[in-house]
Amino acid sequence: MTIGFIGTGNMGYPMVRNLVKAGNKVTAFDRLQSALQSAAAAGGAMASSQKEVVMDAEIVITMLPAGQHVRTVYGSDDGVIATASNGTLLIDCSTIDVESARAVAKEAAARGLDMLDAPVSGGVAGAEEGTLTFMVGGSAEVLERARPVLEAMGKNIVHAGDSGSGQAAKLCNNMMLGISMIGTSEAFTMGQKLGLNPQTLFDIISTASGSCWALQNHLPIPGIVETAASNRGFRAGFAVAMMAKDLRLAQLAAKSVDASTPLGSTAAALYTSFEDSGNQDLDYSAIIKLIAAQT
Ligand code: NAD
Repeated sequence: MTIGFIGTGNMGYPMVRNLVKAGNKVTAFDRLQSALQSAAAAGGAMASSQKEVVMDAEIVITMLPAGQHVRTVYGSDDGVIATASNGTLLIDCSTIDVESARAVAKEAAARGLDMLDAPVSGGVAGAEEGTLTFMVGGSAEVLERARPVLEAMGKNIVHAGDSGSGQAAKLCNNMMLGISMIGTSEAFTMGQKLGLNPQTLFDIISTASGSCWALQNHLPIPGIVETAASNRGFRAGFAVAMMAKDLRLAQLAAKSVDASTPLGSTAAALYTSFEDSGNQDLDYSAIIKLIAAQT
């Protein structure tokens, strides 16, 4: 397949690598030169504009920070929707608000283009290993067209429902992840204060009922879990700014349907406060610093 890929940051460039590995011809664009060079190192061809990426693509994949970037990249006068050839399949893998996902898919449909929202779970490690979970919103037939390409980057491809449903599922997931990372941070901070050795506490909880994905993969204590950002001075990984954004999006989504989310709301407030104190670029597991600093 000929694939155009826009947004080759932390997640995008390893996804490009796996698409190339699977035999696809990938042309990449990112407005940041350093991100574009990572995509080139991953085997993609570098384009000098978004239009160049879209022109000959059979499939366009985007991996952008937030809803406003997705609306601009797809919806502007020289955006993806205006410049894609007939029959091009559009897949947005970014995590964004449900409303933007539905609005952009509607615009694409008005031009006769099929679009899926396909946000991912699994983090940078999942993107590197090609083991991402894709939560897909859009029609089931369109998903079948996209499946071989998604399978080059992920292991679990789940149809969540109509347009926007992938984003809805992703926001539910990330609300749980934020809450469980805060819970993990509280337990390990309290455990250390109670005199427990962190390795011993990890050995116990990781095989007990308190275990969770955040603890198993991103433990905020260094030297125990190999894939944890705590081993690398909390270099992201999944940045605090991204987690804070997702938690705020989850709150917007909760309000839109009158869902009660008291822990989700607290998690959004804690991550936003941590982000606002200059920690936006750290990995989301660094929230333990905020917990540990509180008395
Ligand atoms: P990132 O900031 O590293 O990458 C986003 C890239 O998009 C950047 O390189 C940026 O320059 C580029 N970009 C922004 N606007 C652009 C434009 N108009 N044209 C071209 N390029 C543009 O972010 P990331 O960590 O790769 O995350 C991307 C998305 O994936 C986010 O929505 C995030 O919530 C989601 N996500 C991230 C992780 C993770 O662990 N990092 C996990 C799951 C989902």
